[in-house]
Amino acid sequence: MSDLQGRYAQAMMNTFGQPRLALVRGAGAHVWDDAGNEYVDLLGGIAVNALGHGHPALVEAVTRQLQTLGHISNLFLSEPQVELAEKLLELVSTGSTSGSGRVFFTNSGAEANEAAFKVTRRTGRTRIVAAEGSFHGRTMGALALTAKAAYRGPFEPLPGDVTFVPYGDAQALAAAVTDETAAVILEPMQGEAGVLVPPDGYLAEARRITAEHGALLWLDEIQTGMGRAGAWFAAANDPGVAPDLVTVAKGLGGGFPIGACLALGDAATLLEPGNHGTTFGGNPVACAAALAVIGVIEAEGLLERTAVLGQKLRDGLAADPRVTEVRGVGLLIGLTLSASLSAEVAAAAQAAGFIVNNPTPERIRIAPPLVLTDEDANAFLAAWPSILDAAFPGDVS
Ligand SMILES: *Cc1c(COP(=O)(O)O)cnc(C)c1O
Repeated sequence: MSDLQGRYAQAMMNTFGQPRLALVRGAGAHVWDDAGNEYVDLLGGIAVNALGHGHPALVEAVTRQLQTLGHISNLFLSEPQVELAEKLLELVSTGSTSGSGRVFFTNSGAEANEAAFKVTRRTGRTRIVAAEGSFHGRTMGALALTAKAAYRGPFEPLPGDVTFVPYGDAQALAAAVTDETAAVILEPMQGEAGVLVPPDGYLAEARRITAEHGALLWLDEIQTGMGRAGAWFAAANDPGVAPDLVTVAKGLGGGFPIGACLALGDAATLLEPGNHGTTFGGNPVACAAALAVIGVIEAEGLLERTAVLGQKLRDGLAADPRVTEVRGVGLLIGLTLSASLSAEVAAAAQAAGFIVNNPTPERIRIAPPLVLTDEDANAFLAAWPSILDAAFPGDVS
C-alpha cells in the first residue's frame, strides 16, 4: 500500500472502501496514477467528465469567472446563473412546456432531487411512486426514493410515502398511481442498476398515467442528461413525454459540482418564497463551468459524436460471446457478462490500462468522456478479448 493509500485509510471515513488507485493528473480521456501509469478513463468520474480532463474551455471559463466574481450567495444574482437557467430551459423545452419553466440550482444530484422532492410536496399530496432498481442519491430524501435495500436499511425510517414498482412495467405503474399520488419519479435509463433501458413507449405511458391522475412526472436525468445519451436529455425533451420535473447534475458542470432542478409548466411555480434555499447553489463559477460545457458540446457537435461512438462501442463489445447483452444509449453503456466476474473484468481492464466500472456482479458500465477519441475507443475494443481472457477462468467462451 502506497503512503497515500495508508493516509487515506487513516483520515477518510470508510464509506467507499479503499480506492484502487491514487490519481494525480488527467488530460482529455486519459488519467495518470501516482506510480506514473496511464489509463484511458472510460468511466469519466461516473458520467461526469463530459469534456474529459483539463479541457481548455472549461479551465478558461472557471478561471475567468473565479478571477471576476467567485461566490455571492443567493441574496444576490449573477449573469452566469441567469444565462444557464435560460439555456437549460431552452434545451429541455418541448412543444408543451416551452417558455414556462423555472430552475433551482444545487451542488449535486442528490440535492437536485431534494429540491424536486420538496416541489412534489407543494402539490398537497405526499405519495411518490418510484421504480425498483432506482438510484436517486444518498441524502435522506433522495434515499427514500432509492430502491436498494442495502442503502436504505441502515437509515430507516426514511421520509416520504414511497411505493416501488418494477421498472419498465407500464401496467404495474398504472396500478400504483392514484389520485393521491404526488409524483412518479423515473430514470430514463437506470444507470446504477447497470444501465437498464425501459421498453419503447414506457415513459410516454408514464406521462399518460400521471396526467390522468393529476400527478407530476419527474425524470431523474442526473446520469442520462446533458449529452450522455447523444441528446441533451435521454427523454425529457421527447414531446411525447413532456415531464413536469427534470433533475440534472453529473455531466452538467463537466467535473465542477453543480446540479439543477428544472420545473416545467404549472410545476414551475410550486415552490414559493421561503420554501427552499442553498448557500452555494447557483454559484457563478459553477454556472460558468456548465455554460462552458454546453458551449463545447454545441460547438464540437458532441451530441452526434456521442451517438455514433456509443453505437460503435456497443457493437464492438457485444462481439465477444462472454458478453451476453449490451445495453444503453450514446455513451452510457452497460454490459452483462456470462458469469459474475465484473470485479475481475474491471481489475483486468485496469491492468491493461482502461478504467471501467462494475456496478453489479455481472454488469460492467462504461460512461467515457464525450470527447473520447476514435483511437482510444479502438484501443479498448482491440484489448477487450484479452481483458476477458485475463478475467475469465479457463476457456469459458
Ligand atoms: C449519481 C446520481 C444521483 C446522485 O447524484 P450525486 O451528485 O451523487 O448526489 C441521483 N440520481 C441518479 C440517476 C444518479 O445517477
